[in-house]
Amino acid sequence: MQRAQTIPEIRAAVKDLKAAGKRVAFVPTMGSLHAGHLSLVEKARESADAVVVSVYVNPTQFGPDEDFDEYPRQLEADAKLCEEAGVAVLYTPRDDSMYPPGFSTFVQEELLSAPLCGRGRAGHFRGVCTVVTKLLNQVGPDLAIFGQKDAQQARVIQQIVRDLDLPVEVLLAPISRDPDGLARSSRNQYLDASQRESALTLRQALAAIEASFAKGERSTDALLSIGKGILKKAEGVQLEYLEILEAKLLQPLHRVDRVALVAVAAEVGPARLIDNTVLDGVSGEIRATL
Ligand code: AMP
Repeated sequence: MQRAQTIPEIRAAVKDLKAAGKRVAFVPTMGSLHAGHLSLVEKARESADAVVVSVYVNPTQFGPDEDFDEYPRQLEADAKLCEEAGVAVLYTPRDDSMYPPGFSTFVQEELLSAPLCGRGRAGHFRGVCTVVTKLLNQVGPDLAIFGQKDAQQARVIQQIVRDLDLPVEVLLAPISRDPDGLARSSRNQYLDASQRESALTLRQALAAIEASFAKGERSTDALLSIGKGILKKAEGVQLEYLEILEAKLLQPLHRVDRVALVAVAAEVGPARLIDNTVLDGVSGEIRATL
């Protein structure tokens, strides 16, 4: 596995791969890699000939009261996992090349970034859009893989790729879960045993909504009250939102008569956790990705 730290290094590495006729897939991450990230690498390997992974904890997507300083960093363990997963190039840019002194240009998506996490995390998606645009420009992959775990982020990125004519294909990978159902996240490391137990209620609320939908319920109010009932009873779970939105433009929906995103965010002890599911109101199926 090759390592790259600077923009010239990553550009040269990808140029060599492409010169060898390889289709290059890119998986951007903030590191502290787990099986969820590795499922994206796996999908990347299935869809291309060489995989580039980046590890960069992007300061501009964290609010002033968020966990940028505490965010887990374990670069050498990440490098070992990437090597074992058959990654061709690990790109670990430094702050001074991502945001050199005098940096003053940001990318802002204004529609899909507004609801859900956009409400509680001012500036978050502006940071995400800026860093993802920069990383795509630096790496120049043929395709990029993002996780359904961050469904709103995935939609926002699809939108900026379209709106800004970025020459990359975007693929989504399903949510990877621990055996108990908890969506894998680098932030799960913050949870102790009882908080982890409480965190499972996020998935339980979504599962109850899925079950009611499968039985034919289509009213978003009815579906939401089932989920909220479960989350209300959970100890130590501070609900931020549980919403059902139309999946394309993330607009409110009264009845699930098209594809809908059911998204939840909550604070459980020190961790802000998110999870989601996708209900297809046309086919009646539960979907793995948007
Ligand atoms: P992060 O390191 O949290 O910024 O995540 C990097 C990428 O991995 C994003 O596209 C995430 O959506 C994706 N990802 C993180 N956790 C999971 C998971 N449990 N299942 C699927 N994708 C994930």
